[in-house]
Amino acid sequence: MPDRPLLLGAHCIDTGGIPMAARRAGRGGMQALQIFSAIPKFYNDKVSVKPDRIARFREALAEAGIDAAHVIVHAGYVLNCATPDAEKWERAAAALAKELERSTALGVGGVCFHPGAATDKDRDSAIARVGEAMRRALLAVPEGPTRLLIENTAGAGTTVGRTPDEVGAMLDALPAELRARAGYGLDTCHLYASGYDLTASRDNVTVVLDAFERAAGASPSFLHLNDSEGALGSNKDRHARIGRGAIGAEAFGWLLQDPRARGIPCLLETPQAVPEVAETDDTPDAWDVEDIALLRGLAEVRAA
Ligand SMILES: [Zn+2]
Ligand SMILES: [Zn+2]
Repeated sequence: MPDRPLLLGAHCIDTGGIPMAARRAGRGGMQALQIFSAIPKFYNDKVSVKPDRIARFREALAEAGIDAAHVIVHAGYVLNCATPDAEKWERAAAALAKELERSTALGVGGVCFHPGAATDKDRDSAIARVGEAMRRALLAVPEGPTRLLIENTAGAGTTVGRTPDEVGAMLDALPAELRARAGYGLDTCHLYASGYDLTASRDNVTVVLDAFERAAGASPSFLHLNDSEGALGSNKDRHARIGRGAIGAEAFGWLLQDPRARGIPCLLETPQAVPEVAETDDTPDAWDVEDIALLRGLAEVRAA
């Protein structure tokens, strides 16, 4: 797959609606985009997306020249599909299914979610519950272009999905016929904060990608490109702009030069210059644009 394109983008601000996020991405020259399909601090387990909103979003994407397959929806932060609390788990599983339903209606390539926390410290049972929530969601939405993608965590507290084995075990919990509609993505800040030193050498980056590929049976379906405010192994989920955190720019070059980074959405979730924009202002964020240019340069320069 040597000729797969580099697909850089960002989680664009959706003030004015998700069509505005698509317009900002298009004007920013992005090939990929991440959005929320509902307010991420709520479960939204009863929220559907209206047909006219779908149409306006698809239209804006087409105008922006962004393939819907290269759009990722980020699920709500409150969902904890790993929780041992039966009532909370039911609600989280229903919310995950609804995220997949909304994302499928929007026609995007994937919906990513944080697996959650084993608050009783029984990690194996927590991982099994995440697998079961995924199974339910995939059965509730039996077909469509949207894949359900686990995001690796920064490893704070009892969160699960930090290691290749944990991500692999969640995917292994799915029946074979659903497996193709599921996958995972990697967040560089979360990797670094959970102790994977991407900065040591190009080989280290390769080794991390290899380990996830081996455990999950496939390479990642998206990357979140975030530098890290927290130190190596700090378990701090605090994103910094590319080259301005503890990871530094060079490691992003190593990552983007790996063939496995090609053809998948590579998305910034980093601080933005103007977090409050007017609803009708489709100017892309200046820091996003600047950092995407930086990443494009890093991806192209290959050390001998
Ligand atoms: Zn995330
Ligand atoms: Zn994060």
